[in-house]
Amino acid sequence: MNSIYTKMAEELRAKVLKGLCLLFLTASTIAFIVNSVRANNIIFTLIDLGLIVLYSSLLIFVHKYGTRPWFKAIIVYSYILVISYLTFVGDLSGGLLNWVFTIPIMLYFLYSKKHAFIASFIIMLFQTANVYYEASYGSVESLRGIPNFVLAYGLIWLLANIYETNNNTIKLEIIDQAMKDPLTGALNRRALLQSFKSLNTSISSVSLCMIDIDFFKKINDKYGHEIGDLVLIRFVKILTEQTCSSQVYRLGGEEFAILFHDEFSVAITKVNAILSAVNTINYDDIQSSLTLSFSAGIVQVEQNSNMSNILKQADEYLYQAKSSGRNRVVSELR
Ligand code: GH3
Ligand code: MG
Ligand code: MG
Repeated sequence: MNSIYTKMAEELRAKVLKGLCLLFLTASTIAFIVNSVRANNIIFTLIDLGLIVLYSSLLIFVHKYGTRPWFKAIIVYSYILVISYLTFVGDLSGGLLNWVFTIPIMLYFLYSKKHAFIASFIIMLFQTANVYYEASYGSVESLRGIPNFVLAYGLIWLLANIYETNNNTIKLEIIDQAMKDPLTGALNRRALLQSFKSLNTSISSVSLCMIDIDFFKKINDKYGHEIGDLVLIRFVKILTEQTCSSQVYRLGGEEFAILFHDEFSVAITKVNAILSAVNTINYDDIQSSLTLSFSAGIVQVEQNSNMSNILKQADEYLYQAKSSGRNRVVSELR
């Protein structure tokens, strides 16, 4: 389910980026006006003007074509470059250094942890040297300035790192819980819908198999609901082991689906092998003399297939398997 998390995180980052672009445009416009009025530093005024042109072009581009990875790089690294340049040539006694502390937070917000860690570290090295050699700090002040800078920067950097690590873990846990069936641990219908959205059937063959345990109500009636639950858990374990994949979904009750990234005929062979296994496995540890079977319908997932149509089609084959005697697999390639 990591792909779902990555996709959601990218969508969030895209929104943050657009907001940042707008914010930077406002900030550079204000800085441009202030610097033009004071008219004491032509280089800063020109930089501000350049930034206004850059951020307004980016906003127009994003509005027209959506975000791209280089868009993020331009926004973040133009900001870092400008701050690095200004702190390098400017007078640090005016408070310019404060801007450096915004960088690790921005990096952790918009990039992977590894990227943010490396970039934050390089910026710390550069700014430490900058603080040391900055004339306005004076030779005694510079030595006092280094621990102050490194400790404050390190604290923000550490907090951003801890926050991001825990945030990722919690988000992954929440997504995991939202996508899994709590009883059997199989993925749920919501997860199947997500998988369908991210399927690329133009580069791989995909088949969907719908499975329904035969006479499951009888198992509940005869041995009790708790044994029924244990049977469902074991059933998912068998499906997962037999398919060597995590793409087993519980659609509800005693109904399941498996997504195969195989040629259609291979998927059919695999489901028949799973059926033989389910028929022959010994369930004595759950209930002596218990036997299991299922009926299944398989369909090939075509390009641009809609999930509800595919499920409907698979359900029709499943119905045929039930009505023709159960314990069998039905597909269009019989
Ligand atoms: P068929 O071969 O036609 O599929 O018959 P069946 O008995 O398997 O199907 P039916 O739809 O009549 O019954 C399904 C049963 O599954 C009824 C319901 O109580 C049981 N069931 C659904 N969810 C759970 C569950 O989470 N735990 C247990 N123990 N039973 C469940
Ligand atoms: Mg059933
Ligand atoms: Mg059923």
